[in-house]
Amino acid sequence: MGLVADLAEIVGDAHASAAESILQIHSGDQSSHERRLPDAVVWPANTAEVSAVAKYASANRIPLVGWGAGSSLEGNSNPVHGGIVIDFGRMNQIVEVHENDFQVTVQPGIFYKDMNQLLARQGLFFAPDPGANASIGGMIANNASGTRTVKYGATRDNVLALEVVLASGEVIRTGSRSLKQSAGYDLTHLFTGSEGTLGLITEATLILAPLPEHFSAVVATFDDTPSAAEAVFGIKGSGISPAALELLDAESIRFMNMRVTDLPEMPTLLMEFHGASEVAIKAELELVKEICEDCGCTRFEAGVGRESRDRLWEGRHALGEILFSVYPDSHYLITDVSVPISAYPELAAYANSLYGEMGVHGTLFGHAGDGNLHTVNFAPLDDDDQWAVLHDFNDRVVQKAIELDGTCTGEHGVGIGKQKYMVYEHGEGAIEVMKQVKTLFDPLNILNPGKVVGIKGKGKR
Ligand SMILES: Cc1cc2nc3c(=O)[nH]c(=O)nc-3n(C[C@H](O)[C@H](O)[C@H](O)COP(=O)(O)OP(=O)(O)OC[C@H]3O[C@@H](n4cnc5c(N)ncnc54)[C@H](O)[C@@H]3O)c2cc1C
Repeated sequence: MGLVADLAEIVGDAHASAAESILQIHSGDQSSHERRLPDAVVWPANTAEVSAVAKYASANRIPLVGWGAGSSLEGNSNPVHGGIVIDFGRMNQIVEVHENDFQVTVQPGIFYKDMNQLLARQGLFFAPDPGANASIGGMIANNASGTRTVKYGATRDNVLALEVVLASGEVIRTGSRSLKQSAGYDLTHLFTGSEGTLGLITEATLILAPLPEHFSAVVATFDDTPSAAEAVFGIKGSGISPAALELLDAESIRFMNMRVTDLPEMPTLLMEFHGASEVAIKAELELVKEICEDCGCTRFEAGVGRESRDRLWEGRHALGEILFSVYPDSHYLITDVSVPISAYPELAAYANSLYGEMGVHGTLFGHAGDGNLHTVNFAPLDDDDQWAVLHDFNDRVVQKAIELDGTCTGEHGVGIGKQKYMVYEHGEGAIEVMKQVKTLFDPLNILNPGKVVGIKGKGKR
């Protein structure tokens, strides 16, 4: 039998396909990295079917790539060696809400925005918030984070237990629902961030937070980006705990204003504070205002109402989509560096200075409260000279971040794009251990081959 017919035996005729349009959709994520058509796509209904597909792939040595929403930014979900893409779209249910423990058990294909809409009925939410409507499986696999990470942690900090299908098809469970866990090697957090290269997640138990009763949004405007970054360190260094602390350069605000917001087109800190009472928040805001003004803030607007606050976050979340759609003839290259908060002003000032120095066209923004900085830079796809400059820009920003004891990727993962920095960041010895871990879990190298510490992908360069 052919591949699709074999797979249809496992998942049913309607849930296995090699139609050109289906293969195209699953050939790559939102990045410019190397795309390739898979040989087939399946939509399993349950763990047993995922396990059967893995057994089949293992027996026939066929690559197996997990797929959530395909919203990755480093080629993480691109099937660069072809094979079978497992789309978790049908495994999208909440299995159980453990309301009294502030936890939920879900299937991996549920999108976090949909999940949070359902959880809001119980006054709960899953805090990691990558902006794009990602699946929980994809968020766990990439260890995604976002605007709320500064207070609530990254995905990794909010995963308690997993069910995982190994390359052989064997099904294992890791972790437990206890917040404290000390029983042996921490497999849950080894699979988290492994980008589908060690196993396929088929169920996850997540930590939830209560929806805040009192909150205040703040918009602080500065004359220049380095001053705004100084204020980030000042706020974090004072021990205040913002629920969101985002840095946006003037160009980012200009893009947000194109579709959603109406903000002064100046470097800006967008913040949110959650508290048990309005009095507690007010006291924090007074200190934040003082710190911002000490750093040269020219306009400080606090306590904006629910509607304006929602519009601000809608604008912030739409920024990526706006950027990616505004230059149809260009493609973009993203940095995702992260450093200790004390080094953030130096990193931001350095990246900001490169724009003038290198004549690059793009934007600078980031989840500043946890030391994360993105630059998104554009060049026409066929302009090799400009692409060389963009790669040089990224190399310099990554080098600076690593010099400052940071990392080449705070949240997007390694995928294809960040592999060239892995030895530089971790050293040969640590990379060798990672390769041994990969071989232990996936001796035939069928799980998302070519990623993280895989054979280096080609990327745009
Ligand atoms: C506009 C925009 C803004 C973004 N902003 C952020 C941000 O602020 N923060 C952030 O962290 N990310 C951000 N991202 C990137 C992206 O949303 C995240 O990386 C997200 O976690 C990807 O989830 P996904 O469901 O799309 O996964 P996919 O892209 O489908 O897959 C991601 C990885 O997970 C693997 N995978 C998928 N499902 C499973 C599974 N069940 N088991 C094992 N492996 C699996 C895939 O093989 C792949 O390696 C943004 C993306 C866009 C387009």
